Amino acid sequence: MKRYDAVVVGAGHNGLVAAALLARKGWSVLVLERRDVIGGAASTEEIFPGCRVGVAAQDAGLFRRDILADLGVAPSALEWVHPPAVATSLLGGGDAMTLWRDPNATRDEIARHNRADASGFPEWVDYLHSMARVLRVALDHPTPPLHDLTRKERLRLLRPLVQAARLGKRNVVELLRVLPLPARDLLDDRFAGDALKGMLGTTALLGADQGPSAMGGAFRMLYHAAGSPAHGFRSSAFLKGGIGALSEALAAAARTHGAEIRTGAEVERILVEDGAASGVQLAGGEEILSRFVVSGLDPHRTFFTLVGAPQLGPEFNRKVANIRMRGSTATLHLLLDGLPPLPDAASRLAGHTLIAPTLDYLERAGDDAKYGRISARPHLDIVIPTLHNPTLAPAGRDVASIQIRYAPYQLRAHSWRDAATRDAVVSGALRILDEFLPGTRDRILDHHILTPLDLETELGLTHGDEYHGQMGLDQLLFMRPVPGWARYRTPVEGLFLCGSGTHPGGGVTGGPGRLAAREILQG
Ligand SMILES: Cc1cc2nc3c(=O)[nH]c(=O)nc-3n(C[C@H](O)[C@H](O)[C@H](O)COP(=O)(O)OP(=O)(O)OC[C@H]3O[C@@H](n4cnc5c(N)ncnc54)[C@H](O)[C@@H]3O)c2cc1C
Repeated sequence: MKRYDAVVVGAGHNGLVAAALLARKGWSVLVLERRDVIGGAASTEEIFPGCRVGVAAQDAGLFRRDILADLGVAPSALEWVHPPAVATSLLGGGDAMTLWRDPNATRDEIARHNRADASGFPEWVDYLHSMARVLRVALDHPTPPLHDLTRKERLRLLRPLVQAARLGKRNVVELLRVLPLPARDLLDDRFAGDALKGMLGTTALLGADQGPSAMGGAFRMLYHAAGSPAHGFRSSAFLKGGIGALSEALAAAARTHGAEIRTGAEVERILVEDGAASGVQLAGGEEILSRFVVSGLDPHRTFFTLVGAPQLGPEFNRKVANIRMRGSTATLHLLLDGLPPLPDAASRLAGHTLIAPTLDYLERAGDDAKYGRISARPHLDIVIPTLHNPTLAPAGRDVASIQIRYAPYQLRAHSWRDAATRDAVVSGALRILDEFLPGTRDRILDHHILTPLDLETELGLTHGDEYHGQMGLDQLLFMRPVPGWARYRTPVEGLFLCGSGTHPGGGVTGGPGRLAAREILQG
């Protein structure tokens, strides 16, 4: 029987990055994907007849593009879209505020609402950029094993330390000061206008089930600015073929380097012999042997479903069981017979369109989630992929993909299995949409909702957690996925993790896949 060098479980974008990097080194690699499509949460699928859009993630602005160069993906293989608007906040009563890629246009726009904020915004853009650059040094290197800092590890630390020092000692100190801050404190310190603060504060909600007053929000704002230029908001860039085009390009690179990819191949068990991984067993019984098993699934799924707690030891099991997996977002796709009625809709709505008029609005939405309720007045983050590429849908049709926050996986008084609960999250979102963008409702031809439970059953995200584990301060850096095991290794020899549940974390960054592959190759 053939024995692969590595079996990669899951063809999410991180699994594909890891597979491609291992295959590039001449390893025999097999990727096994449960679904019929690759890409996991970063896949493009036919949601409505003739409409192919991102099923979950839309924005590829966080992706580390140097990975593509490392893998030999030609720049022409992907068509990036950088719409003129980075984000538009709908403020009610027909008012809106747009942050444009053009800084002068942004300044004018903010000045209509608050002159002082407009003059302070360029400084904020620079600040966010320089803080994110320093943070990126930590995100793009493996975290040091603090409990066991050998001479070799100390030497490996030199490179990131030198890189960070080059970015300025003052910046490093400032970064350490702000990382734990709530987004509200960071923003109150700089701006006065509610509209601007609400808009910027939305980034602190990504990867967490907490509002803008929660500690660690500043970290999440900087984390989400560490990809392509953030323009004061967050790293944002789209792909003409939808985000799945990125996963397809990674898969093509993996195949070019010799990796095999099998879809419709669900791994049921990771085989462990004498404490070491020896391969996997598929649903249906087929066994595949390998020297290494690399899991792109979240830690809960990897350890408790595929390995089994008895192989791991009580202390490790306790740590994994304590990882906070708390999906709190539902995704609503709308098929529209035209753009929502807003002046300059084609340009204003081409980035992220937000319903987040104030920080208090976001806080109240988060309060509902805290008590296990769907937000009565949710925050909406809307992307219209057909504005990036009209051919994604038939002529005259648009698709709006909306993240609804909050829709907690754990509901106190209801169940996501009930049609009434699913209907409630849809009707709540449409009510708010109609309030802030009147007339949109009349354009809806069809809708498709993915609740946190659907994200779990369809995409394999435990508890619907979009980031394979909350991006709270206690679940980051050397504590991701759990303290003592931040270097992709596991208590099972030869079993590595490479998904978003590992450092640097969630989002379509490719970072975990790249760092895991490096760690494996370093032996
Ligand atoms: C609704 C939503 C919106 C988001 N929006 C954005 C966004 O706009 N921008 C952004 O940067 N991030 C976004 N994110 C987060 C981002 O999409 C994820 O963090 C990232 O895609 C996870 O990638 P991954 O490769 O680590 O894991 P996944 O994409 O989860 O991949 C894991 C793969 O493993 C497969 N699998 C599961 N079980 C098995 C098994 N037993 N056998 C074989 N295969 C298996 C799954 O099918 C999946 O393909 C969003 C997430 C969600 C859910």
